[in-house]
This record gives sequence, C-alpha cells and structure tokens, in this order.
Amino acid sequence: MDYTKLYINGEWVQSNSKEFIEVENPANREIIGKVPRANKADVDYAVKSAKEAFETWQYTDLSTRISLMEALIDELYKRADDIAYMIVKELGRGVDFALDMHTIPYIQDGENYIRIAKEYEFEKDMGDYILRKEPIGVVAALTPWNYPLGQVTKKIIPAMLTGNTVILKPSQQTPLVTYILADAIDKVGFPKGVFNLVTGTGAEVGSLLIEHEDVDVVTFTGSTKTGKEVAQRAMKALKRITLELGGKSPSVILKGADIELAVKKTLDTVYNNTGQTCSALTRLLVPEDEKGKIEEVVVNMTKEYPFGDPALSPTNIGPVISEKQFLKVKSYIEKGIEEGARLIYGEVPKDYDKGYYIKPVVFSDVDNNMVIAREEIFGPVLCIIPYKDKEEAIRIANDTEYGLSAAVFGPDDEAREVANKIKAGNVIVNKGIFTRKAPFGGFKQSGIGREGGVFGIEEFLEVKAIFK
Ligand code: NAD
Repeated sequence: MDYTKLYINGEWVQSNSKEFIEVENPANREIIGKVPRANKADVDYAVKSAKEAFETWQYTDLSTRISLMEALIDELYKRADDIAYMIVKELGRGVDFALDMHTIPYIQDGENYIRIAKEYEFEKDMGDYILRKEPIGVVAALTPWNYPLGQVTKKIIPAMLTGNTVILKPSQQTPLVTYILADAIDKVGFPKGVFNLVTGTGAEVGSLLIEHEDVDVVTFTGSTKTGKEVAQRAMKALKRITLELGGKSPSVILKGADIELAVKKTLDTVYNNTGQTCSALTRLLVPEDEKGKIEEVVVNMTKEYPFGDPALSPTNIGPVISEKQFLKVKSYIEKGIEEGARLIYGEVPKDYDKGYYIKPVVFSDVDNNMVIAREEIFGPVLCIIPYKDKEEAIRIANDTEYGLSAAVFGPDDEAREVANKIKAGNVIVNKGIFTRKAPFGGFKQSGIGREGGVFGIEEFLEVKAIFK
C-alpha cells in the first residue's frame, strides 16, 4: 500500500506539501512508513470535496447509505488480519490482542450502528409538528493513537451513515491503519468526497480543520488539554462539538466484594494496551483494614500478565507508544516515589533500548491529592488508595477533575448505590460487562457528548421541528 498519498475526493492524490511524517514501531524503533505532512492547500481541497459531496449525500436514501456501509463492514472483515498486523507494528500490541480488542469489536460496533440506523426514526409525526433529525454537514474527525482503528470508526461510521461527509485527521503516530480503512472505503465505492483522509500534525492540519469556515462539526478524541483548546477554537464559530477526553477512573472495592474478580477486572483495564486506555481504572480504592489482603492479590495477579515483544504474542503489556510517552510515564513513577507513595511492585524503568518497554508498577498508600492520583499517566501504573468508610470512598472516587469511567465491587445493592453516586459516564458493577452499544463519554473534564449506540448516531444529527 502507498502511504505517501492522501485520499481526497474519491482518489489517492499527492499532497501539496513535499514533507512527510515518519511512523515508528515502538517495539523496536524501526521506521515502518511515512505519511504526508499535509498543508493548507490539502485541507482546503478536502473540505471543498466534502462540502460538495454533502450537497447530494445528505439526500441519498438511507437504504443506499446502509448498503454501502454494509459493504464496508464486509471489506473490513476481509482486512481484519491486515489491520491487526498493522496495529502490532504501529502501536506495539500482540497480534491476538490487536485482533480481539482493537479490530473485531470495532467492526462489530459498525454493524451495531447500521442496525440502529435501520430502526431509527429520522422523521416522526408529533401531532402538531413533524420532528426531523437531519445530517449536519462536513465533519472533521480528529483521533488519538491509542486505539488506531476503533477511535476512528466510532466517528466516521455514524457520521457517514446519517448523511454527513467526513475529513479524517488520524494521529500522526498511528496513521497507517487508516490507509487500510480508506482503501476499503475506496473499494466499496462511496460517492467521491464523502470520506477524505488527510494526514499531518494536530498543530497544522488539526488546527486548520477546526477553524475552517466550511467545517460544521468537530468530533475530537484525545487529551483533555488539547480538547479544551480545540473546543475554544471551534466554538468561535459555534460549530457542533463532541469531545472524548482523558480520565483518572476509580475502581471501588467495598467490604464483602469478590476481591479476585474486582482486582482482575481492574488490572485488565490498567495493564492491557500497556495502560494506554482512556477508561483505565487506575485508582483502586480499598477498605483500609483489607488493604494488605488486596495488595497481595494485586501483586500476585500482576505477575501473571504477559509482558514482552508484541511480535511474540501473547503480550498484553509491551512498549508504550513513543519516547515522549516513555519519559512521561517514567517521570510519573519517579514522582510517585518522591511523593511518598509506597512502591509495592515494579521499579523505575531503565532507559529504553530496543523499544519503549514499561513493566507494570503498583503504588500503595497513595493519597488522592498526590500527582500520581490526579493526573492521567497513560502507562501500566496502578495507585491503591485506602479509605475508611463508604462515604469516604465515594468522596475520593469523585474527587477528580475527570469523570469518564468507574467500577464498584461489593454486595449488589450497596454497589449499585455507590455506582449511582459516582460522577462518571459509565460504571461497571461486579460482573457487569462493558458493551459498545451503550453510550460512552465523560462527565466533567472527560468530555462533552457521547459515542456508541444511538447516542453516537445523534451526535451527528441536527434537530428540526416543522409545523404543518
Ligand atoms: P492528543 O490530544 O495529543 O491528540 C489527539 C488528536 O488531536 C491527534 O490527532 C492530534 O494530532 C490532534 N491534535 C493535537 N493538537 C491539536 C491541536 N492543537 N489542534 C487540533 N488537533 C490537535 O491525544 P493523544 O495523545 O493522541 O491521545 C491520548 C489521549 O486521548 C489520552 O488523554 C486519552 O485519555 C484520550 N482518549 C480519550 C478517549 C475517550 O473516548 N474519552 C479515547 C481514547 C483516548
């Protein structure tokens, strides 16, 4: 596949810029490809194409859009192995994990969006008026590197299904998977301009898209810091925005909980993907008098997680994405020690050599005011925070600027009561299993809006009342 082009107006084109961004394999630091560092002329061309395409795409029959999307899903299934192997290389995940957690669930998520679109009432007679839900227009989708396919398909599939047109600006760190996606879209034969892929940096291409007068919707997933900036600039023109941002999510173990279950479900979110998951339950709140017992379970289970070279599957924990991320996680581990948290497993990573590998680290006796308990580390680092009683557990759980995810383990009624009181967009209770059919998004500084299921569809619809 040729990664040196952009996909605009239904064809692969040369960028107007002569510059490229290299993509590195974080497991061995080899350069695995380079993509255009697109410029203003490229962005203008992509937006013009998307705007022209919207003129007709918005009025196509829903059945036509659904048929094209079903064909895209078929193409993605055919390319699932290629996608997974690309995620092995550009994100540094083991192939099983890349296929089972990064690829297949998001293709299934696309199928779910299609099912919802088939049943959704885009127009409804309300008696004295007609309620219509209409596509909004040109969508700029800005996505992060930690789920290179999933964070993209969550946006572009509902956006295009509902009659919007899209310009995708993927993360410059993991753009190669989106070339496989664009190739599939090209094969299916969507009308030209409905989907456009423009690679480049956030500061250049991202900024140009956010402020372009013909972009109507900005859907952004990334850090809270960048999200705030994106929102401020997009709001100058009152563009519609969706922000899916960071987290520092609590997992609360109540007295009487199934500790093995609680620890396993918590650690899966913290270690898989080497801790680079927005919804990771990185603050484990434990009853003070059960701390020792729980620490022991945490340490024993931590040892079980496969760590190593992603080329040698299974390896749920391997490298983090980049040198920058390696240094950031390392400095947080040093900070935790400096702040007086008790390191009960792991160590400060040595300098990287072959790749940016970081092994799990567990801190206990963490005070919720410590930096390691307040800031998103985005690495395999767990903070155990003791609490005295249930009220204090709820207060600590909510004492964060974030509100993305949470989990509560304990007797069912009590766990539900605590779940109801936690300010987060999604909460797992005991054996509850996360499904992408449900809304996903954050309270507080974890974002604005929701992705997933019917809520994800509605982010791309404008509401109109027609009085007859
Ligand atoms: P990031 O904020 O650095 O970048 C996200 C995207 O925005 C990238 O495409 C980047 O190029 C672009 N960008 C950067 N600066 C920009 C600017 N000034 N203007 C416009 N675009 C700009 O985030 P990241 O490091 O790629 O991703 C990690 C973050 O994403 C974490 O904080 C994680 O919690 C968050 N995340 C959230 C969710 C969610 O659903 N809530 C999901 C995945 C990741």
